[in-house]
Amino acid sequence: MPASLPPLVDEIIRARRKTIAILVQRDGKVIVRAPVRAPMKLIQDFVESKKDWIKEKKALMQNRAVTPARHFVDGEKFLFLGEKINLRVVPDGTQRAALSLNKEFLLSKKAQPAAMSVFEKWYKLEAQRIMAERVTLYAEKHGFRYQKIRISSARTRWGSCSSRGTLSFCWRLVMAPMDVIDYVVVHELAHLKIKNHSDVFWNEVNRLMPTYKIRRDWLKKNGLLLTLDGE
Ligand SMILES: [Zn+2]
Repeated sequence: MPASLPPLVDEIIRARRKTIAILVQRDGKVIVRAPVRAPMKLIQDFVESKKDWIKEKKALMQNRAVTPARHFVDGEKFLFLGEKINLRVVPDGTQRAALSLNKEFLLSKKAQPAAMSVFEKWYKLEAQRIMAERVTLYAEKHGFRYQKIRISSARTRWGSCSSRGTLSFCWRLVMAPMDVIDYVVVHELAHLKIKNHSDVFWNEVNRLMPTYKIRRDWLKKNGLLLTLDGE
Protein backbone atom coordinates (compact mmCIF):
# COMPACT_ATOMS: atom_id res chain seq x y z
CA MET A 1 0.00 0.00 0.00
CA PRO A 2 1.48 3.39 -0.93
CA ALA A 3 2.23 5.65 2.01
CA SER A 4 0.04 8.74 2.04
CA LEU A 5 1.74 11.90 0.86
CA PRO A 6 2.12 15.07 2.94
CA PRO A 7 -0.09 17.99 1.83
CA LEU A 8 1.19 19.83 -1.27
CA VAL A 9 3.48 16.94 -2.24
CA ASP A 10 2.81 14.97 -5.43
CA GLU A 11 5.60 12.47 -5.23
CA ILE A 12 8.38 11.30 -2.94
CA ILE A 13 11.47 9.85 -4.53
CA ARG A 14 13.73 7.88 -2.21
CA ALA A 15 17.35 7.99 -3.18
CA ARG A 16 20.83 7.45 -1.83
CA ARG A 17 21.31 10.91 -0.47
CA LYS A 18 21.77 12.55 2.92
CA THR A 19 19.33 15.44 2.84
CA ILE A 20 15.75 16.13 1.87
CA ALA A 21 15.15 18.39 -1.12
CA ILE A 22 11.97 19.81 -2.62
CA LEU A 23 11.57 20.46 -6.31
CA VAL A 24 8.68 22.36 -7.87
CA GLN A 25 8.53 21.46 -11.54
CA ARG A 26 7.49 23.78 -14.35
CA ASP A 27 4.09 22.05 -14.45
CA GLY A 28 3.61 22.84 -10.75
CA LYS A 29 4.20 19.28 -9.57
CA VAL A 30 5.95 19.08 -6.20
CA ILE A 31 8.55 16.36 -5.84
CA VAL A 32 10.43 15.54 -2.66
CA ARG A 33 13.75 13.73 -2.81
CA ALA A 34 14.57 12.03 0.46
CA PRO A 35 17.13 9.63 1.88
CA VAL A 36 16.06 6.01 1.57
CA ARG A 37 15.47 5.58 5.29
CA ALA A 38 14.19 9.03 6.25
CA PRO A 39 11.06 8.60 8.37
CA MET A 40 7.84 9.96 6.92
CA LYS A 41 7.45 12.26 9.93
CA LEU A 42 10.78 13.91 9.13
CA ILE A 43 9.71 14.49 5.54
CA GLN A 44 6.34 15.85 6.65
CA ASP A 45 7.97 18.30 9.06
CA PHE A 46 10.43 19.43 6.42
CA VAL A 47 7.63 20.03 3.90
CA GLU A 48 5.62 21.86 6.55
CA SER A 49 8.55 24.18 7.28
CA LYS A 50 8.86 24.98 3.57
CA LYS A 51 5.14 25.39 3.00
CA ASP A 52 5.19 29.09 2.11
CA TRP A 53 8.11 28.66 -0.24
CA ILE A 54 6.35 25.78 -2.02
CA LYS A 55 3.18 27.83 -2.46
CA GLU A 56 5.11 30.80 -3.82
CA LYS A 57 7.03 28.62 -6.20
CA LYS A 58 3.84 26.96 -7.43
CA ALA A 59 2.28 30.35 -8.09
CA LEU A 60 5.38 31.37 -10.01
CA MET A 61 5.23 28.27 -12.18
CA GLN A 62 1.54 28.81 -12.85
CA ASN A 63 2.42 32.34 -13.88
CA ARG A 64 5.12 31.06 -16.23
CA ALA A 65 2.55 28.80 -17.81
CA VAL A 66 0.30 31.76 -18.70
CA THR A 67 3.10 34.11 -19.73
CA PRO A 68 4.69 32.61 -22.81
CA ALA A 69 8.43 32.88 -23.31
CA ARG A 70 9.36 36.08 -25.10
CA HIS A 71 10.98 36.03 -28.51
CA PHE A 72 10.30 39.66 -29.50
CA VAL A 73 9.00 38.78 -32.93
CA ASP A 74 6.10 40.11 -35.01
CA GLY A 75 2.71 39.41 -33.51
CA GLU A 76 3.76 39.00 -29.90
CA LYS A 77 1.58 40.93 -27.46
CA PHE A 78 2.68 43.24 -24.67
CA LEU A 79 0.48 44.76 -21.99
CA PHE A 80 0.28 48.49 -21.55
CA LEU A 81 -2.46 50.29 -19.58
CA GLY A 82 -4.54 47.13 -19.63
CA GLU A 83 -4.36 46.58 -23.35
CA LYS A 84 -2.61 43.83 -25.25
CA ILE A 85 -0.52 45.62 -27.83
CA ASN A 86 0.92 44.00 -30.90
CA LEU A 87 4.65 44.01 -31.59
CA ARG A 88 6.11 44.69 -35.02
CA VAL A 89 9.80 44.58 -35.81
CA VAL A 90 10.76 47.39 -38.18
CA PRO A 91 13.87 47.79 -40.36
CA ASP A 92 16.76 49.82 -38.94
CA GLY A 93 16.49 53.49 -39.79
CA THR A 94 12.67 53.51 -39.71
CA GLN A 95 12.70 55.22 -36.31
CA ARG A 96 15.25 56.86 -34.06
CA ALA A 97 14.27 55.08 -30.88
CA ALA A 98 14.93 51.39 -30.33
CA LEU A 99 11.29 51.02 -29.31
CA SER A 100 8.27 53.20 -29.83
CA LEU A 101 4.52 52.93 -29.43
CA ASN A 102 2.25 54.00 -32.24
CA LYS A 103 -0.86 51.84 -31.96
CA GLU A 104 1.63 48.96 -32.12
CA PHE A 105 4.97 48.47 -30.44
CA LEU A 106 7.62 49.13 -33.07
CA LEU A 107 10.97 47.56 -32.33
CA SER A 108 14.01 48.35 -34.47
CA LYS A 109 15.56 45.23 -35.95
CA LYS A 110 18.95 45.93 -34.46
CA ALA A 111 17.45 46.29 -30.97
CA GLN A 112 15.95 42.81 -31.14
CA PRO A 113 18.80 40.95 -29.39
CA ALA A 114 18.55 43.32 -26.41
CA ALA A 115 14.77 43.63 -26.61
CA MET A 116 14.10 42.50 -23.04
CA SER A 117 16.09 45.37 -21.55
CA VAL A 118 14.85 47.78 -24.23
CA PHE A 119 11.27 47.00 -23.23
CA GLU A 120 12.07 47.23 -19.54
CA LYS A 121 13.65 50.64 -20.05
CA TRP A 122 10.63 51.78 -22.05
CA TYR A 123 8.21 50.64 -19.34
CA LYS A 124 10.26 52.33 -16.63
CA LEU A 125 10.21 55.66 -18.48
CA GLU A 126 6.48 55.39 -19.04
CA ALA A 127 6.00 54.45 -15.40
CA GLN A 128 7.91 57.55 -14.33
CA ARG A 129 5.70 59.74 -16.51
CA ILE A 130 2.36 58.07 -15.73
CA MET A 131 2.88 57.67 -12.00
CA ALA A 132 3.97 61.30 -11.64
CA GLU A 133 0.88 62.38 -13.54
CA ARG A 134 -1.56 60.24 -11.53
CA VAL A 135 -0.01 61.02 -8.15
CA THR A 136 -0.10 64.75 -8.88
CA LEU A 137 -3.73 64.46 -9.94
CA TYR A 138 -4.90 62.65 -6.80
CA ALA A 139 -2.61 64.49 -4.40
CA GLU A 140 -3.97 67.82 -5.61
CA LYS A 141 -7.54 66.60 -5.61
CA HIS A 142 -7.38 65.41 -2.01
CA GLY A 143 -4.73 67.73 -0.58
CA PHE A 144 -1.92 65.25 0.07
CA ARG A 145 1.72 66.28 0.29
CA TYR A 146 4.41 63.80 -0.63
CA GLN A 147 8.17 64.03 -0.95
CA LYS A 148 8.91 62.37 -4.28
CA ILE A 149 8.08 59.47 -6.56
CA ARG A 150 10.37 56.53 -7.14
CA ILE A 151 10.00 53.76 -9.71
CA SER A 152 11.01 50.36 -8.36
CA SER A 153 11.52 46.86 -9.70
CA ALA A 154 9.92 45.21 -6.68
CA ARG A 155 8.45 41.80 -7.41
CA THR A 156 6.30 41.52 -4.34
CA ARG A 157 4.56 44.85 -4.03
CA TRP A 158 3.02 47.37 -6.38
CA GLY A 159 3.64 50.38 -4.27
CA SER A 160 4.98 51.59 -0.97
CA CYS A 161 5.16 54.75 1.07
CA SER A 162 8.22 55.57 3.17
CA SER A 163 8.11 57.38 6.48
CA ARG A 164 9.70 60.35 4.74
CA GLY A 165 6.87 60.50 2.24
CA THR A 166 8.54 58.93 -0.79
CA LEU A 167 6.04 57.04 -2.89
CA SER A 168 7.42 54.04 -4.74
CA PHE A 169 5.70 52.21 -7.55
CA CYS A 170 6.73 49.13 -9.45
CA TRP A 171 7.20 49.82 -13.16
CA ARG A 172 5.13 46.75 -14.08
CA LEU A 173 2.09 48.55 -12.73
CA VAL A 174 1.73 50.47 -16.01
CA MET A 175 0.74 47.20 -17.64
CA ALA A 176 -2.51 47.40 -15.64
CA PRO A 177 -5.58 49.46 -16.61
CA MET A 178 -5.54 53.08 -15.44
CA ASP A 179 -8.37 52.34 -12.95
CA VAL A 180 -6.12 49.89 -11.20
CA ILE A 181 -3.08 52.17 -11.32
CA ASP A 182 -5.19 54.88 -9.71
CA TYR A 183 -6.21 52.53 -6.91
CA VAL A 184 -2.54 51.88 -6.07
CA VAL A 185 -1.89 55.63 -6.16
CA VAL A 186 -4.75 56.33 -3.76
CA HIS A 187 -3.68 53.43 -1.54
CA GLU A 188 -0.17 54.85 -1.18
CA LEU A 189 -1.41 58.40 -0.70
CA ALA A 190 -3.63 57.16 2.12
CA HIS A 191 -0.50 55.69 3.72
CA LEU A 192 0.88 59.24 4.03
CA LYS A 193 -1.77 59.65 6.72
CA ILE A 194 -2.12 56.11 8.04
CA LYS A 195 0.88 53.79 7.87
CA ASN A 196 -0.83 50.48 8.66
CA HIS A 197 -3.66 48.50 7.05
CA SER A 198 -6.14 49.04 9.88
CA ASP A 199 -9.87 49.65 9.42
CA VAL A 200 -9.13 53.35 9.73
CA PHE A 201 -6.83 53.05 6.73
CA TRP A 202 -9.38 51.19 4.58
CA ASN A 203 -12.07 53.68 5.56
CA GLU A 204 -9.81 56.43 4.29
CA VAL A 205 -9.18 54.56 1.02
CA ASN A 206 -12.92 54.07 0.69
CA ARG A 207 -13.55 57.76 1.28
CA LEU A 208 -11.04 58.73 -1.42
CA MET A 209 -12.14 56.04 -3.87
CA PRO A 210 -15.46 54.33 -3.11
CA THR A 211 -14.93 51.82 -5.94
CA TYR A 212 -11.54 50.71 -4.67
CA LYS A 213 -12.59 47.11 -3.96
CA ILE A 214 -13.23 46.16 -7.59
CA ARG A 215 -9.88 47.63 -8.56
CA ARG A 216 -8.05 45.92 -5.71
CA ASP A 217 -9.65 42.58 -6.61
CA TRP A 218 -8.59 42.99 -10.23
CA LEU A 219 -5.01 43.43 -9.09
CA LYS A 220 -5.17 40.43 -6.78
CA LYS A 221 -6.54 38.27 -9.56
CA ASN A 222 -4.43 39.54 -12.46
CA GLY A 223 -1.30 40.86 -10.80
CA LEU A 224 0.74 37.84 -11.79
CA LEU A 225 0.04 38.59 -15.45
CA LEU A 226 1.67 42.00 -15.23
CA THR A 227 5.10 40.81 -16.18
CA LEU A 228 7.50 41.07 -19.06
CA ASP A 229 9.45 37.89 -18.52
CA GLY A 230 7.06 35.66 -16.59
CA GLU A 231 9.04 35.98 -13.37
ZN1 LIG B 1 -0.58 49.38 1.87
